[in-house]
Amino acid sequence: MAKSEIIKTFEDLIKEVHEPGLCGECGGCVSFCSAGELKAIEMSESGPPKYVNEDKCLKCGICYFICPQTHVLNDQLNKKFKYGPPLGNQIKITSCHATSEEIRNRATDGGAVTAILGYLLDNKLIDGAIVCKRKGPFNRISFFATTNEELVEAAGSHYDFSSQVVGLEKYNTFIATNIALKKVMGPDLLNIAVVGTPCQINSIRKMQELSILPAHIVKYTLGLFCYLNFSFNDEDRKKLEEKFNFKFEDVESMNIREDLILYFKNKDALHIEFSDLKEIARPACFACSDFSNIYADISFGGLGSEEKLTTTIIRTKIGEKIYKNALNKGYIQEPAEFNTAAKKSEILEKVKDFSKKKIERAETTLQNKNL
Ligand SMILES: Cc1cc2nc3c(=O)[nH]c(=O)nc-3n(C[C@H](O)[C@H](O)[C@H](O)COP(=O)(O)OP(=O)(O)OC[C@H]3O[C@@H](n4cnc5c(N)ncnc54)[C@H](O)[C@@H]3O)c2cc1C
Ligand code: SF4
Ligand code: SF4
Ligand code: SF4
Repeated sequence: MAKSEIIKTFEDLIKEVHEPGLCGECGGCVSFCSAGELKAIEMSESGPPKYVNEDKCLKCGICYFICPQTHVLNDQLNKKFKYGPPLGNQIKITSCHATSEEIRNRATDGGAVTAILGYLLDNKLIDGAIVCKRKGPFNRISFFATTNEELVEAAGSHYDFSSQVVGLEKYNTFIATNIALKKVMGPDLLNIAVVGTPCQINSIRKMQELSILPAHIVKYTLGLFCYLNFSFNDEDRKKLEEKFNFKFEDVESMNIREDLILYFKNKDALHIEFSDLKEIARPACFACSDFSNIYADISFGGLGSEEKLTTTIIRTKIGEKIYKNALNKGYIQEPAEFNTAAKKSEILEKVKDFSKKKIERAETTLQNKNL
């Protein structure tokens, strides 16, 4: 191996990923560096990770390898996960929902993610799962859920926009879930599931490929579709309210499907096109090419399915096994009228279309940055 290939380090991440604005703040690099007790880098309050103990940096280069924006292990992963553009491997595609009404009422779409996590937990296949919960009016943080109650609490995207607190923080639809990985890795050997966006699952798969901490405890990866994420401040919020004639304090929950959907307390819904949200989109997302979470065991989104149903793509043998068991044991259901051959091919075309659009967008972004 040429010398230049083995000495890429955090400094190269700064040059190649942070400086061109490609860091998605997924937390992958930090989760390894801190789990391995190196603790040379940490997440910043806002923006890419930074050195906190530069003298502790071993120049091992692992952070560079596992960053979803460096693509060094992509060929290996593509082969392992049988990736073919634009959609990746698919053993089965379905439109399903949780059987539990409690989950369905709370969930973003059909609650399939929460129901499958419930099946894993009830059957002691996992000790817990990394999911997200509300923190403050808009933001959510990652946490390790170990009970069904906590899983249900984590479902959906409910917010508390009470007028007293709105304005005190920056709004973010993205959560650095991989940071929670290092926190759950204690002395006990745990089996866990992780719910994550494509960039987060990408980083976990790279850690697993390199057999490094803390990804060894991740037994199941449940991936979310992801076209774009948003980050905005109080001033942006006011502009959005004026432009689209609504008040955040009236919003109850939100979803992202083929656009951003705000659901109001009075049960109205407002759809905002991605193209109208460019100013508040996270810049790194424009360089990201994975829409449907190509390396997850199972991928989930709303795109293509009817309201309150989850579009589900089973990708790996592990994913197939847990999905089948969750279905057979009554945790999830596939309504026949939404799972006809015609309906499934319609859903597939939509997901393919968004996947292609995202690949093209990433290519254009990188070309414009001369990368
Ligand atoms: C940031 C983001 C962007 C998305 N973009 C799209 C899109 O463009 N098109 C599309 O069709 N679908 C998108 N989705 C997926 C969609 O919104 C639903 O999450 C998915 O359909 C699963 O629905 P469900 O009802 O089965 O999940 P639920 O049963 O409600 O469970 C959702 C799980 O995801 C966890 N979670 C929530 N937010 C995050 C986050 N930011 N990071 C990691 N985990 C999280 C929750 O804690 C919960 O465990 C996106 C989701 C997120 C979080
Ligand atoms: S110790 Fe290794 S993983 Fe940590 S910052 Fe340095 S090169 Fe990256
Ligand atoms: S691994 Fe994630 S947080 Fe670290 S540099 Fe890459 S994109 Fe940024
Ligand atoms: S578009 Fe989604 S998967 Fe890609 S970098 Fe942004 S948050 Fe991560």
